[in-house]
Amino acid sequence: MTTVTATPAATVARLRATFNTGRSKPLSWRLAQLDALRRLLTERTDELQAALLADLGKNPAEAYRAEIGFTLNELDHTVARLEEWLRPRPAAVPDVFLPAGARIVRDPLGVVLIIGPWNYPVQLVLAPLVGALAAGNTVVIKPSELAPASSAALAELVPRYLDSEAVAVVEGAVPETTALLEQRFDHIFYTGSGPVGRIVMTAAARHLTPVTLELGGKSPAVVEPGADLEVTAQRIARGKFPNAGQTCVAPDYILAIGETAKELEPLLTAAVRSMYGDDPAANPKYGKIVNERNFDRLISFLGDGRVVLGGGSDRAARHIDPTVLADVSPDAPVMREEIFGPVLPIISVPDLDAAIAFINDRDKPLALYGFTESEETKRRLTEETSSGALTFGLPVSHLAMPELPFGGVGASGMGRYHGEYSIETFSHAKAVVDKPLS
Ligand code: NAD
Repeated sequence: MTTVTATPAATVARLRATFNTGRSKPLSWRLAQLDALRRLLTERTDELQAALLADLGKNPAEAYRAEIGFTLNELDHTVARLEEWLRPRPAAVPDVFLPAGARIVRDPLGVVLIIGPWNYPVQLVLAPLVGALAAGNTVVIKPSELAPASSAALAELVPRYLDSEAVAVVEGAVPETTALLEQRFDHIFYTGSGPVGRIVMTAAARHLTPVTLELGGKSPAVVEPGADLEVTAQRIARGKFPNAGQTCVAPDYILAIGETAKELEPLLTAAVRSMYGDDPAANPKYGKIVNERNFDRLISFLGDGRVVLGGGSDRAARHIDPTVLADVSPDAPVMREEIFGPVLPIISVPDLDAAIAFINDRDKPLALYGFTESEETKRRLTEETSSGALTFGLPVSHLAMPELPFGGVGASGMGRYHGEYSIETFSHAKAVVDKPLS
């Protein structure tokens, strides 16, 4: 038997034809698709967990929590509110136009392209898919080729559960994605690195296609004296080291004010031991590095500071210990790019002014984390810095709150999604005015 693979042009034409029939517009179709996605996630949990274990050494409990369960939460939140979100919103009409009515209607956009990264290869294509379907679009999904088992699982399962005239999975690497990007889409939702984000946006510009770019960057954790440093160290470690640090919103580095750097060293060590024991390499709860290229890049950072904890590695197993580096220079290579791995540098600054200046001298982060008991410090970090999100006390948590917009600003991205923000992203707010003729 020969498998005939449709060209990107044919795939997009097919989905556009479906969209043009109006099939994806009724609320009933949208809810049926979301229900089918729910069944995929609940009936095929084992297959998805196995794929995530193969790709990233992601243990099944974490795979459920961070990918499958996460997407189900997003889906349930959306299903429960979708009818209300889609209701046309009345708008006030100025006296001069009366009698007349005005309202805002949410129009689906058409054919949406979702391009995903490898680090949460299920969540980061299926959570945007929830929004794109809920908003009434047809969708092409392009999972990351660097998570091949997850990509294959999605390519197999999505057509079995979802309307295959309306949702297509296209697998592949740069050539396949380049060919896809030559097509005209009505929205492109891209998650990944900044350099590829520029390629995506350039391709989109040729068709005047709007883009959402969910990028990365260096997300700092600011620690102030007076904060409970034991709790701070635990929460930073729990935000940093799951998925072997390969999380876009993981704390990238610690900006330790005053004496907190020294005090944090043993507390971070204890926090990591409480998570993974004395030998993380032997602990199935700990993840592995996605590929050798990233392994080599991360290993090159280990000389950029004094190793407080970790530092061990095994290239064949793609393992790097959870590692904390102290006495790191702000100009060190580890501070010049997003780390995206289990290496946590501590940078010392004398005071809050210096911490704020440090943040504002660099690209706007995807997330900023503050650990402080001071309301004045919280106010200053809120008002004097810019980041995709700002979280006090619990890194990464904003991601799992569907009423909050998720997205970057400046170099960390453009646009936002989750919950109702996904409806805004994947639909057009159409102004409708209706004035009687007599
Ligand atoms: P990447 O940019 O290498 O790849 C992402 C996607 O782009 C893949 O599907 C890949 O096939 C495609 N791609 C790669 N090169 C391409 C090219 N030349 N032309 C067209 N398409 C191409 O990113 P990655 O390494 O998978 O992800 C890591 C980055 O993603 C990090 O910077 C991380 O912070 C960021 N990220 C952001 C979020 C977020 O939600 N903001 C989430 C996860 C990861």
